[in-house]
Amino acid sequence: MKNGLYIVATPIGNLNDISARATEVLAEADIIACEDTRVAKKLFSLLGVSHSKTFITYQDHNEENQAQRLIDLISGEGKSIALVSDAGSPLISDPGYKLVRKCREQGIYVTVIPGCCAFVCALQLSGLPTNRFLFAGFIPNKDKARTDMFQKLKSLDATLIFYETAPRIVKTLKAAAEVFGSRQAAVAREITKIFEECVTGTAEELAEHFTEKEPKGEMVFMVAPCPDNESGRDDLEELLKNALKKKPLKTAVREIVDQYGLNKHDVYQTALKVKDEQ
Ligand code: SAM
Repeated sequence: MKNGLYIVATPIGNLNDISARATEVLAEADIIACEDTRVAKKLFSLLGVSHSKTFITYQDHNEENQAQRLIDLISGEGKSIALVSDAGSPLISDPGYKLVRKCREQGIYVTVIPGCCAFVCALQLSGLPTNRFLFAGFIPNKDKARTDMFQKLKSLDATLIFYETAPRIVKTLKAAAEVFGSRQAAVAREITKIFEECVTGTAEELAEHFTEKEPKGEMVFMVAPCPDNESGRDDLEELLKNALKKKPLKTAVREIVDQYGLNKHDVYQTALKVKDEQ
């Protein structure tokens, strides 16, 4: 096996979702870089792959130091390293991108062995539009940060996808109901596991559902794209009119673009028009 970094996806619930290529790479790699050696070794046991090889932890807090150590093992000692996370695709709300970046900078061979990723499966299950979507990762736990995040993404013409945990989901859905109103939303949970389900409705309906039925397991929350009438020109013109009363044009444009995630050129052109009319 060629020395280098192998990014290997592992199942998110159902063990049979491991690919033949992933099993082969895990069996042959000299070193396994993982978030938690116990979790990784358990996976190896379940797959029937020997774990008598080196396991090295690679986590958010030691990413910088470990990255160079792993690279030294690849380039200095000719090792092949398989990077796995506890479940799913490494680097997706999991550590790894700094390692990949450093590998690229230092001309190290990097390849990917694709497989499960929870947000892709959730989107497929949801029935929400798939032509354009934005994966926003984990939702902050603090009330203001959560609402700010929703506000920032609210005007995007894209299905929004978030990772969330069971204990926080009702609070999140209530906050989402305030921002997204009657838009369709979905919560997909326990994907590929026995109790897999995808519940759909408005955020308010979903909040009621999970208030009555205790939320359990791992989950992904999704919201339909911004409807045309919500992000329409009238709203934008109104926003700009108010902003331009207090701020220079460039500042008003920048703040609105940042807050609502709109196209800078469009906002700028509308701002010029509004200013002309004022
Ligand atoms: N790297 C993983 C991936 O490829 O999806 C994600 C890791 S992130 C630390 C863990 C989050 O992914 C969970 O909190 C949950 O939001 C989501 N997740 C993971 N497995 C899931 C599953 N089986 N069903 C629903 N969501 C899942």
